Amino acid sequence: MDVLPICPICYFEDESVIHTPLGCSQLGDIWKKTNIPFVEEFDCEIPFVEWLESAIAQWNANHFASFAIICYLLWNRRNDVNSNASLHSDGRAGLGCVVRSWDGRVLAAMALNTSASAFVTQIKVEAVLKGVELARDLGIFKVQIEGYCEWVWSSLSKGFDPLSPIGTVVANIRSVLSSFTEFQFHWIPRVANKVAHELAQHGCTFNSCQVWPEDNPSVIVPCS
Ligand SMILES: [Zn+2]
Repeated sequence: MDVLPICPICYFEDESVIHTPLGCSQLGDIWKKTNIPFVEEFDCEIPFVEWLESAIAQWNANHFASFAIICYLLWNRRNDVNSNASLHSDGRAGLGCVVRSWDGRVLAAMALNTSASAFVTQIKVEAVLKGVELARDLGIFKVQIEGYCEWVWSSLSKGFDPLSPIGTVVANIRSVLSSFTEFQFHWIPRVANKVAHELAQHGCTFNSCQVWPEDNPSVIVPCS
């Protein structure tokens, strides 16, 4: 399979050993905040090993440890997809999902109404489908899909009757994810899924779909 050399984070330069931890424009001022000497004095034309030798000559053990830990975290950074569903006793049902960048910035959020005839387990899986579709539509193909419902994660990882309503949705999720370069499911506590929960609640209140691109949805009250 051909793999494009372009950096999948900034889409501006080739993804090289020195670009990913040091040269990528999407890193912002992360290295400046560390006060590690020499870390901003790099040249993408110089081999990484050569730069590292010069850097290590100026570092103590703490500098080296900090550099290694930050590089590890940067390499493993992922965009996050959170989703949730809400089913009211009066029959209203809504889905909510939010896609965030690796540094927590909201890239897009969505709330929509859905069929209240479905079981809550099914609409929770439908919410995951909407979340991965939203990430795909944003051109994001390296994600961590987060949620607190263990049943949903197990239904995604194990075999499921493809003819059942849930099995159909699970098959659609797998189909969407087949175009992703990297994805993983990650369990989080219910409280950490609060934004997706609020969006799902909001989805119960109207009869269509609402999308907020690159902005915090007005329905979400920021934590003080
Ligand atoms: Zn980059």
